[in-house]
Amino acid sequence: MILGRSVQMAESLFKDSGFTLDSLQRSINQAKNPESIDLNKRLHVSVQASFTAYADAYNVLGLIPGSDTGSGKVIIIGAHYDHWGKDVNGAVFRGADDDASGVADMMEIARVFSAGAKPRSSVLFAAWVGEEEGFYGAYAYVNHPYFALARTIAYLNLDMVGYGKPLLFESSETYTALRAVTTESAKQLGITLSVQAYEGGSDHQPFQEEGVPNLMFIYWPYEEYHTPSDTADHVSRANLLETGKLTALIVLKLSEATVSSITSSAHATTILANTVSTTAALVPIEAFMIAGALLVVICAAGVLYFRRQRK
Ligand SMILES: [Zn+2]
Repeated sequence: MILGRSVQMAESLFKDSGFTLDSLQRSINQAKNPESIDLNKRLHVSVQASFTAYADAYNVLGLIPGSDTGSGKVIIIGAHYDHWGKDVNGAVFRGADDDASGVADMMEIARVFSAGAKPRSSVLFAAWVGEEEGFYGAYAYVNHPYFALARTIAYLNLDMVGYGKPLLFESSETYTALRAVTTESAKQLGITLSVQAYEGGSDHQPFQEEGVPNLMFIYWPYEEYHTPSDTADHVSRANLLETGKLTALIVLKLSEATVSSITSSAHATTILANTVSTTAALVPIEAFMIAGALLVVICAAGVLYFRRQRK
């Protein structure tokens, strides 16, 4: 829509100049050189903009307490639920891949864990707000953490996990244990990973700055990135399943390793396998009811959390 209006405006500027937008574009394309011409026209542009310095926004957190409550350790899985809203012409930026895909995966893992697999350490599920403007939600969390950051085993970030191949795994080389568990889990599940050094640029950044072991899963590039065309029809079920299973297995392994001080990957895999077969037997309506109930629980936990923060 913006493009259409720009073309109209450019064409009206070229009127009576002896050039058209098309002819000039062709000539630039052929010569591969810019071509400046004097149009002898004056252009008045007015822009309306508003700026909101402060706004209230909310993270939504949900907690599954670990089966071993004595450990006091937590693993966090996070994804951001905000996106870009609308542009000046009213086109909606839906953000299906960025990052409804990550939130959907996170909620599915929460459902799977609450339905069967009980990780030994607690798992905190975080739907962050304000990622697109600069990770505001995740920064708010690390500044006011629900669990002390020193007791946070790892933060696993899911951002744009619904489109493309292969799965990129980004994590700092200093987190050797997390890297090892991740590559081992991917191998076990037959998932091809492209391993990258830490770059930041999403909600794992605040955790990195606080020294909390962290990783990000992302598929890149994505042609519809930050456009109104980032819609659900681009999101692949296979991608969601791949990332979801891998993240869940990593959580179970980290949880086992931390609580019992051994890398009991066999036990973690058995839990995941049992849970997957249990959940596969659920009829869809039950699955939706559980997902609905879970959303209510997550919202309630979020409200309680923010009330606590305000006191
Ligand atoms: Zn984004």
